[in-house]
Amino acid sequence: MKSINPQVATIKESIFSKMTALARVHQAINLSQGFPDFEGPSFIREAIAEASKDHRLGQYAPMPGNPYLLENLGHHYKNQYDLNYSDKEITVTNGATEGIMVTSLALIEPGDEVILFEPYYDSYPVAAELAGAKIKIVTLKGPDFCWDSEELEKAFSSKTKLVYFNNPHNPTGRVFTPAELKELSELVIKHDAYILSDEVYEFLTFENHKHIPIMKLPGMRERTITTGSAGKTFGHTGLKVGWLAASEPITKAIRMVHQFNVFSVNPMAQYAVATGLEHVGTYIPEFQSLYNQKRLLLKEILLEAGFSPCETQGTYFTLVPLPQKAIDLGHTDISYCEELIKKAKIATIPPSVFYRKSQEGTKYLRFCFAKSENLLNKTRVYLKSMLLA
Ligand code: PMP
Ligand code: GLN
Repeated sequence: MKSINPQVATIKESIFSKMTALARVHQAINLSQGFPDFEGPSFIREAIAEASKDHRLGQYAPMPGNPYLLENLGHHYKNQYDLNYSDKEITVTNGATEGIMVTSLALIEPGDEVILFEPYYDSYPVAAELAGAKIKIVTLKGPDFCWDSEELEKAFSSKTKLVYFNNPHNPTGRVFTPAELKELSELVIKHDAYILSDEVYEFLTFENHKHIPIMKLPGMRERTITTGSAGKTFGHTGLKVGWLAASEPITKAIRMVHQFNVFSVNPMAQYAVATGLEHVGTYIPEFQSLYNQKRLLLKEILLEAGFSPCETQGTYFTLVPLPQKAIDLGHTDISYCEELIKKAKIATIPPSVFYRKSQEGTKYLRFCFAKSENLLNKTRVYLKSMLLA
């Protein structure tokens, strides 16, 4: 039999599915995959129930998105960031995951170069390589997870088509500063490239860290494709409603790919998200404060158990360096993650899978704190049994 696409043969099972399955096998507390284990806002489920009574919402939605949702996403960008996006510049996608794939397929030609910051979200290299791109990596080095300016500049060339940028950043928890955004945007403009700005955690920033969409910077409106996700913002990851905001010419290209990828997104879920966007004024402050409490609780638990967690500026993840004792015993992120799941019954993510250039990822574990207080407190007890083993 003829072979399958060799590019596809290189793709591995997602670490998120793998760790959640392992957590089940070991009956472990699942702090690996990023999803809340507690009830999200009831207005989302109520809107779905309401939508289910309208037979029209049981049929295909318009290809670019439900007009009510496109309109409310336009309001969202205006109200939050004072940015104008018309309904010809927003496309509703099947989660940000589809947004990443269709943007890659719409923009990249075989042989183009793309830039990825490692640790990266796992779908970026897959989408880029399926589209035929050659990947250039820039490492965000711990403990601060800043890029090296020289390394970044060197990664760009006349062939650079697209930069994949995630801010707030999974898994490091970084929120990039205005100075960093300026530096990156100037390089994107200088090399006449596009940037895919993955802002699925736009509302999850803590303390004095503030999210600034890179499309707001001078000259970036026409080069930026921004992706967002309702699953994250409204605490229901199963919604799988995401979107892409981009200039009209880019949106046209994106929609052609989206049309023959999924055609359109679940209309009941779209209706629920459009309704949810009406609540952001009251909902977002509560959402941020709830996740901030969880962030601080996990930090306290980790410190108490003798770990030294990195600071989470945004997202619902915390990177934790492997204890020195574990490193001395020869542990890497993968072997320590296995120990933790078997001995302490806690599932985490080994971040080395998000790296291809450096070994940085082998020194950390990623913990997700989008979990109930009860589960986080259980972690406290379980971690004590492990104590820097
Ligand atoms: N980008 C990042 C950085 C993520 O963490 C995730 C996971 N939710 C996604 C994209 C995918 O989002 P969605 O579930 O909306 O497809
Ligand atoms: N974004 C989630 C995470 O980082 C996982 C998404 C998924 O499982 N596809 O954990």
